[in-house]
Amino acid sequence: MTQETGGFAALDLHPSIVAAVIATGYEEPSAIQQQSIPLILAGHDLIGQAQTGTGKTAAFALPVLHKIDLSKREPQALILAPTRELALQVATAFETYAKQMPGVSVVAVYGGAPMGPQIKALRQGAQIIVATPGRLCDHLRRDDKVLATVNHLVLDEADEMLKLGFMDDLEVIFNAMPASRQTVLFSATLPPSIRAIAERHLKEPKHVKIQSKTQTVAAIEQAYMQVHADQKAQAVLRLLEVEEFDALIAFVRTKQATLDLASALEAKGYKAAALNGDIAQNQRERVIESLKDGRLDIVVATDVAARGLDVPRITHVFNVDMPYDPESYVHRIGRTGRAGREGRALLLVTPRERRMLQVIERVTGQKVSEVRLPAPQAVLDARIKKLTKSLLPLVADAEASHGELFDRLATDLGCTPRALAAALLRKATNGQALDLASVEREQPLVPTAAPRERSERSQGGERERRAPIPLGEGRARCRTALGARDGIAAKNLLGAILNEGGLARDAIGRIQVRESFSLVELPEDGLDRLLTKLKDTRVAGKQLKLRRYRED
Ligand code: ADP
Ligand code: MG
Repeated sequence: MTQETGGFAALDLHPSIVAAVIATGYEEPSAIQQQSIPLILAGHDLIGQAQTGTGKTAAFALPVLHKIDLSKREPQALILAPTRELALQVATAFETYAKQMPGVSVVAVYGGAPMGPQIKALRQGAQIIVATPGRLCDHLRRDDKVLATVNHLVLDEADEMLKLGFMDDLEVIFNAMPASRQTVLFSATLPPSIRAIAERHLKEPKHVKIQSKTQTVAAIEQAYMQVHADQKAQAVLRLLEVEEFDALIAFVRTKQATLDLASALEAKGYKAAALNGDIAQNQRERVIESLKDGRLDIVVATDVAARGLDVPRITHVFNVDMPYDPESYVHRIGRTGRAGREGRALLLVTPRERRMLQVIERVTGQKVSEVRLPAPQAVLDARIKKLTKSLLPLVADAEASHGELFDRLATDLGCTPRALAAALLRKATNGQALDLASVEREQPLVPTAAPRERSERSQGGERERRAPIPLGEGRARCRTALGARDGIAAKNLLGAILNEGGLARDAIGRIQVRESFSLVELPEDGLDRLLTKLKDTRVAGKQLKLRRYRED
C-alpha cells in the first residue's frame, strides 16, 4: 500500500472498513470525514455542516459501522434521510463500506414499498436501519419497540428533512429511542429550526464546519459544462478537439477513473498518463517530469496524486469529477495560471451537482460561465487548423526533398496533382473526418440507438436469417459488410450515399441495418456508375464497399 492510504488507516477504524474504503478507490478522507470520524468514534454527539458532495455519508457511515456489535442481531443504528432515493443511496453506501465485514445487515425503510419485507428484515435482526421519517413512524405505530435497542442516530440532510415537513415525525422518533443514544446531525445549512432540534435532542454536541472562504483566482477563466455522468469521457474528447492547450491536467475521483480516462485519451492519440496514489513515487515523478518537458501533454489525476504539482506548461485544468469542496476546487484550478499566465478551468457538472456549482461561484466570488459541447463546424475548423499547423513547417522545404517523387507518382498514377495531393492527405490523416458531413455523422455524444435498431441488434443471429423484404420496382438491392456492430445506423448510410452519390432522397429505398451487414435499395438505372462513384466512400471511418446483392 502507498503512503496516502495511511490517511484512512490513521483514523483508528476497523481494518476491514479501511480495506473496503480503499477498495472503492478513495485515497484519503475528505475534510468533513477527517474531522468528524474521530469525534463520532469517541462517542460525542456532533453537528456537521458541509455542502453537498463533500463526503458526508462516509463521515458517519464508517464510524457507525465500526461501532456495530456483530454478535448482536438487533437494530443498533438508525440513519434518517429525507427521501427514498437518499435513503437507498445511504443504504448502498453502507453495504459498500461493509463489504469486508461479514454479518452486517442493512435494511432500507421507506414509503411507496410494501411494509412486509421491511418488517421481516427488521425482525431478522438488521443492525442498521436507513429510513425516511414518515415510513419509520408507520412502523413505530405497529410496534413501538422497533427502536428500543438503537444507540446511534444519524440525521442526514437535516435541513432537507425539515423543509419536507418531517418535524413532528422526528419528535416521535426521538422519543422512541433510548435517551443514552449518540446523536449525529449533518446538514448543509443550520437554520434556527435545526439549532432548536440540536438544543433539545443532542448532548453537548461538537461542531464541525467545513468552511467556505472566499478565494480569488483572477487569472483563470472558469467555465462549466453540463453532462450526464456516463458521457464524461466523450465530452472530454470533444472539448479537447477545440481547446488550444499546452499541457492539461484532468481531475477525477478514483484511481480507476484515472486509468480509464487516460487510456481513452491515449487511444485517441493524446500523450496522456494516469497519476494516482497506487503509482510508485519515483514513477509519479517521471510522469510529472514528462509533463514538464512535453513528452506528455495530459495527466489524469486524483487530488492526492496531484498534490504539490507545479508545472508552468499547464494551461488547462479539467474538473472531470466534481471536487469534494470549494477549497479543493480552488486548489485544483490553481495548477494553471501559474506565474501570472492565463489559465482556463473547465468543470463538468452532472444534474445532481448543480448546487455545488453555486457554492463554487460563491466561494471563488466569480461567475462560472456555461459552455456547450462544441458544434461539428467548430470541431471541423479546429481539425483543419491543426492540420494546417502541422503542415506549415513542411511546406518550407519538403518540396526540395519530396518534390521529384511527387512528380513521378503523379506520372505513374496518371492523375492530376490535385488528385494525388488529395490521396496523400487522406493517407496522412488516417481516415479522420475532415468535411462537415462526415464530422456530423461521427458518433453523436449520446449514443442512444433508436428502440427498433436496438431490438434488431439484440436479437442478433436470428434476425440475420430473416427472409428479405420484397424489392421495390426498378430497384436493386446492395450490400455492405458494415452493420450495427460497426456502429452504423441507417441514417449514416443514407447520409453517405446521398452526399457522395449525389442522389435525391427518394431515389434511395429501404435501408436495413443488421448486426454484421446492411442492405440498401438503390435505383437499378445507373447502378454500376453509382457504385463506382461510391467506391472510396467511408462511413464511421470504415470503407463502405457497397456491392450488388443477389439473393438465391
Ligand atoms: P454528501 O453527502 O456530502 O453530498 P456523498 O457522501 O454523497 O457527499 O459523497 C459524494 C461522492 O464522493 C460519492 O460519490 C462518494 O463515493 C465520493 N467520496 C466520498 N468520500 C470520498 C473520498 N474520501 N475519496 C473519494 N471519493 C469519495
Ligand atoms: Mg449526503
